[in-house]
Amino acid sequence: MNYILVTGGAGYIGSHTCVELIEAGFNPIIVDNFSNSEKFVIDRIEEITGKKPILLEGDCGNNPWLTDATKKYKIDGCIHFAAFKAVGESTKEPLKYFENNIGSTLSILKWMKTSGCKNLVFSSSCTVYGQPDILPVTEQSPKKPAESPYGRTKQMCEDIIEDYYKSDKNIKALALRYFNPIGAHPSALIGELPLGVPNNLVPFITQTAAGIREKLTVFGNDYDTPDGTCIRDYIHVVDLALAHVSAIQFLINKDESLVDFINVGTGVGNSVLEVINTFEQVNGVQLNYEIGERRSGDIEKVYADASYINKILCWATRKSLEQALEDAWRWQKAINKRAYKI
Ligand code: NAD
Repeated sequence: MNYILVTGGAGYIGSHTCVELIEAGFNPIIVDNFSNSEKFVIDRIEEITGKKPILLEGDCGNNPWLTDATKKYKIDGCIHFAAFKAVGESTKEPLKYFENNIGSTLSILKWMKTSGCKNLVFSSSCTVYGQPDILPVTEQSPKKPAESPYGRTKQMCEDIIEDYYKSDKNIKALALRYFNPIGAHPSALIGELPLGVPNNLVPFITQTAAGIREKLTVFGNDYDTPDGTCIRDYIHVVDLALAHVSAIQFLINKDESLVDFINVGTGVGNSVLEVINTFEQVNGVQLNYEIGERRSGDIEKVYADASYINKILCWATRKSLEQALEDAWRWQKAINKRAYKI
């Protein structure tokens, strides 16, 4: 039946991945405690795909419960998304982040041992590289000291998975280092649901365009980049979801054990001003924005060398920045219409 355990499957990236898993013929089993997501997302996945994913509501860090709840399924792989992700909050409440992000990863590794599931895809991040010395960033670029407890949890989880692999050569694990996921499903039925004031550029743009935020501040235009604003590698969330399907298929088909770390990005960097201008152009919307001071902790520029994932997973991005920004705006308008509280 090809059951795949998807922790955090009701979240932003997890929900899009569940859609693509179902479209590819897999049966996702979502484990989510809804600490940062909404239950209607499960119905929306069904609305898009015609198939309701199995939901196990609970904390994937609670290992005895997880082992019990999954006993009746033969699960071929696990995609472990569940984590807290707010960089700013992690500096104020580091223990909350260590407990959840590390604790849930330990619990999943223990679960793999007892359940016999061999295949793991882990959600990592390009934050492990900090400000890289050479661009684009390859997987060989050294990890830099983490800028936040959140970033440190990603580095630590990667190390834990690698150490565990050394002790149990039965497992196959890929850590996917995401660059900057943006956009939403083109149906506008699922997308990102940021709680409170968004930290990320695109939700801030769409909320400003929708009148929820008065003004967008561009943090600094005196960086060493062509237009002076920071550069990131923005990847459409549907492309990112498809990378997970390729990763789990790759692991299932692979006979030998392995642990590997893979960049998931487009390979192209776009500046903050480019994103703003593109958003205005493709959506015909004028944004109220101003140039402000640099924000502490911001990295000047980072974008992926995507050649390894292109080769190993036969995956490449299909969607453009324009499409991502159109989908993000369509999603924001759908949220407004349904008066979803943010
Ligand atoms: P999200 O907050 O939308 O989704 C995470 C989901 O996990 C939520 O549904 C939440 O309720 C659930 N969850 C959290 N802790 C849990 C636990 N202990 N047990 C069960 N469920 C739990 O976040 P996202 O943007 O979809 O991110 C998914 C993963 O990707 C995270 O690990 C995140 O660190 C990583 N990541 C995200 C980004 C990004 O920009 N969104 C970038 C790099 C890496």
